[in-house]
Amino acid sequence: MAGILPDLSLEEALELTKIYSIAGKLTGSVVTSRPVRSPHHTTSNVALVGGGANPRPGEITLSHRGILFLDEFPEFPRNVLEALRQPLEDGVVTVSRASGSFTFPAKFTLVAAQNPCPCGYLGDLNKPCVCSPGQVFKYQKKVSGPLLDRIDLHVEVPRLPYEKMAEQEPAEDSKNIKLRVQKAREVQAQRFGQAKTNSEMSIIELKQYCKLGDAEQQVMKQAMKQYNFSGRSLHRILKVSRTIADLAGSEVITGQHLGEAIMYRPKTE
Ligand SMILES: [Zn+2]
Repeated sequence: MAGILPDLSLEEALELTKIYSIAGKLTGSVVTSRPVRSPHHTTSNVALVGGGANPRPGEITLSHRGILFLDEFPEFPRNVLEALRQPLEDGVVTVSRASGSFTFPAKFTLVAAQNPCPCGYLGDLNKPCVCSPGQVFKYQKKVSGPLLDRIDLHVEVPRLPYEKMAEQEPAEDSKNIKLRVQKAREVQAQRFGQAKTNSEMSIIELKQYCKLGDAEQQVMKQAMKQYNFSGRSLHRILKVSRTIADLAGSEVITGQHLGEAIMYRPKTE
């Protein structure tokens, strides 16, 4: 993930330098690369979101313009996870204290990982899961629906067999992927006339830049009905399809781009 992030603009570098300086975490004179933070699930609410008697930015602000990686997602306390909802939506976090309220930037990309069940083997082809249905249900319910709804790409990663891991063929180099990401970001900057990404599109911009053809509209309508997608899901699917189209260098969102975006959504039938 760190290897495919686009380079920081001068403006972003200065903004991050200010944040790290306030947090007392500045090493060197300026921040030169996008932050990737991975706090442990025992991290306190204040350390993650920010605050304290002398309000300081938390991990979500230290991940601004970069990545916040939360491993073992369901192990984080519920109140800590729920505190992520507002900043994920607004890109800022406000902490209130007797001394006043402070607003810190928090435009981060959330990457979260979790096992399918407490033992980790649910759905595994070679080893049976030893959890009871109740345990699995309880584990999977730890992360709330509204929070899951704010995560755009859900990907199941099955265990790799030995032959696959031992394959000599190298995977695509991160440098190459980074070039594609950088190019897609340039397309977006041109589209909006400023450094802004598709995920930050307003409803008006969404209508302008995520137009679907007749066939694609039918696909969307069908998926909405079948999977019970919310209005928020619909908007997020359109933004993700726009990005997939940008990465492919396509001006229009095709059925393939839309289908891929729909595939990444959590589905409830
Ligand atoms: Zn299990």
